[in-house]
Amino acid sequence: MAQIIDGKAIAAAIEAEVAEGAKALKAAGLPPCLATVQAGESAPTDVYVENQHRRFARLGIRLQHIALGAGVGEATLCERVRALNEDPAVTGIMVTLPLPAGLNPVRIQEEILPAKDVEGVGPFNLGNLILNRATVGPCTAIAVLEAIRATKKPTEGARAVIVGHSHIVGMPVTLCLLRDLATTTTCHIATRELSEETRRADILVVAVGKPGLITAGMVKPGAVVIDVGITRLPGSPGSAAGSTRIVGDVAFDEVAQQAGWISPVPGGIGPITVAVLARNVVTCARQMLGPRRGAGA
Ligand code: NAD
Repeated sequence: MAQIIDGKAIAAAIEAEVAEGAKALKAAGLPPCLATVQAGESAPTDVYVENQHRRFARLGIRLQHIALGAGVGEATLCERVRALNEDPAVTGIMVTLPLPAGLNPVRIQEEILPAKDVEGVGPFNLGNLILNRATVGPCTAIAVLEAIRATKKPTEGARAVIVGHSHIVGMPVTLCLLRDLATTTTCHIATRELSEETRRADILVVAVGKPGLITAGMVKPGAVVIDVGITRLPGSPGSAAGSTRIVGDVAFDEVAQQAGWISPVPGGIGPITVAVLARNVVTCARQMLGPRRGAGA
């Protein structure tokens, strides 16, 4: 039976560091402040933002939420982001997704000043990842690396298979594992014989969004299996009407019989991702403080 990767415990350790960092920044005169920009209405986004406000406030990070109507155009949205770039009290900016149809998230995220790009998804920070000098990386990809690190399994020489090639998860995970000397294979919708690839993985990362995609027969015995997928399904039979549950991409019960380590959904990569975001907020604020101090000296 696989050992469970405890995402909440990993997140708690990161958050303890974050709280210390935020306290020091406040004492130095620059309390970390994350601005979240939302366009249109989305109940899951509202819940996410509300939870984040509560959680970040406990860590000493202030949140400023800007909610714009569904009809907002790209020009107005970019204008708001640019105003936040100029605001010295705002140390980090993120645009919440999904955006209303017709708005291109990459185009809008590109407006965020690299120094305030706390999600690490702009071209500057993604580029720095390749150069191995990124100070903030894409939160979910970094969360995956934290989860792998927690198993203490070496990445050097390991065969790592990443299923999913998005620019925010699959591609940056591939790059980082390659940097850490794993031999990487990245699979996607056009991969032939997915199971042939996954069965060779010492480390298997799955970021697709298709519940049950990875079954026990697709996993090498003893492998580290990281499930990034999040899909909301109707609640289990017998649960309250209208209730929902969150599932990953991995058939957890059967794969747990085969794997050496497995990250659950929920309670795996999700909480680590939020903790990494908080750490990025503190890192960006610390970087902003540097030149200020220098200027004042
Ligand atoms: P995406 O939708 O941008 O990309 C999906 C990827 O899966 C693509 O590379 C696609 O080619 C591949 N794919 C689709 N069907 C496939 C199949 N049958 N076989 C192999 N590959 C297939 O995805 P994303 O934004 O990277 O998100 C992936 C999943 O991770 C989603 O469920 C999302 O909700 C979740 N997610 C979780 C977190 C978190 O914090 N835990 C953060 C971001 C995304």
